[in-house]
Amino acid sequence: MSTLAIVPREIITAFREYFRSEAKPQVYRAPGRVNLIGEHTDYNLGFVFPIALEMACYVAIAPVPNETVRIYSRDSDDEVTVAVDALPSAVRAGKWSDYVIGVARELIAAGTQLAGCNVYIASDVPLGSGLSSSAALEIASACALLGPRHMDPIDIALLGQRAESQFAGMPCGIMDQYASVFGREGSAIQIDCRSLEHDYVPLPQDVDIVAVNSMVKHELGTSAYRDRVAECAAAVEAVRHTGHDVKSLRDVSLTLFERIQDSVPVVPRRRARHVVSENQRVLDFASAARDHNLREMGRLFVASHRSMQYDYEISSEEIDFLVDTAIKHPGVYGSRMTGGGFGGCTVNLVAPHAVEDLRNELTRAYQARFGKTPAFYDCKPAAGAGRVNA
Ligand code: ADP
Ligand code: MG
Repeated sequence: MSTLAIVPREIITAFREYFRSEAKPQVYRAPGRVNLIGEHTDYNLGFVFPIALEMACYVAIAPVPNETVRIYSRDSDDEVTVAVDALPSAVRAGKWSDYVIGVARELIAAGTQLAGCNVYIASDVPLGSGLSSSAALEIASACALLGPRHMDPIDIALLGQRAESQFAGMPCGIMDQYASVFGREGSAIQIDCRSLEHDYVPLPQDVDIVAVNSMVKHELGTSAYRDRVAECAAAVEAVRHTGHDVKSLRDVSLTLFERIQDSVPVVPRRRARHVVSENQRVLDFASAARDHNLREMGRLFVASHRSMQYDYEISSEEIDFLVDTAIKHPGVYGSRMTGGGFGGCTVNLVAPHAVEDLRNELTRAYQARFGKTPAFYDCKPAAGAGRVNA
């Protein structure tokens, strides 16, 4: 299963070849993530429940004797060069380098002095598939540019989020960067996106978490994502009009929502129903995981998917097909879309003995229906970002 894993030592060789340098770069790693439940709840200051992945972005960095930053991405096969003193006034280029330059600008704004360096980037997180290659890139870049200097981990996550939302132009919540920084082997991270606190929740051992890539990139998702952010704000406004002092959908309980929902216009009402019920599902899922109740975990997966499909309207034909095919399969506890929506991946809770069969069945059915071959990723909860010994 899964893509070919990156070996850090190989990144050093690639760095030296690319920059024609004998330098010994330091290598930093930041993982992608798969969100198990709690979709589009982060920017509504609610709860999310991701795991960090073994798949990660690696950044090799070494100083140079001049004030130039050269950044190369192997995945984009593209280089960007910028003078250190031009970083604070750099403008958005509308491409991959925005994530790295955005991070550099945030570090400078936080008082970190940067110097000339060569930066080599390679990732085995699939790009644009809902497994958060973007946060992996931001956090690995932040760690690399910081080097041995200390920064509070939560500040690293926050500056990655600012780089993405304010510089790269994607109005994301904090989940992806948080998961990339705080990941832990064997555990999911239940994050409260308002207090920015988290609990580690150990996951049952006798279930495999399998992500299935629809091979449809979620590129169209950016404008719809903005729409959803705006629709949630409209819902908050409508709830406030009913006389309740709420600041975000996090403040709206299911009971309150059911009482006042008729006062909320129909589209924001459906969006709010997703967010409010999804917050509750995260809490229920965490209890079910603690109780080792795989059936309940699976039930909540499917309820979450239906909520995204019908109320939040962020699924797609391909994703619904993958979910509906998976949940008919014996040994599958539950299946749902993960990530921002409009393509990307599903995530599935599967009895280990059933994984091979599920994979064969989904490949056959998906090829027959869409003429595309899905990719499968074995998602073991992995550690968060840091330097790697290469
Ligand atoms: P996701 O985070 O789900 O993978 P996004 O659309 O948020 O999807 O981010 C994908 C974008 O992040 C890519 O289109 C690219 O611009 C950038 N990106 C991520 N990883 C890399 C990388 N290793 N090299 C270059 N660009 C990257
Ligand atoms: Mg992303």
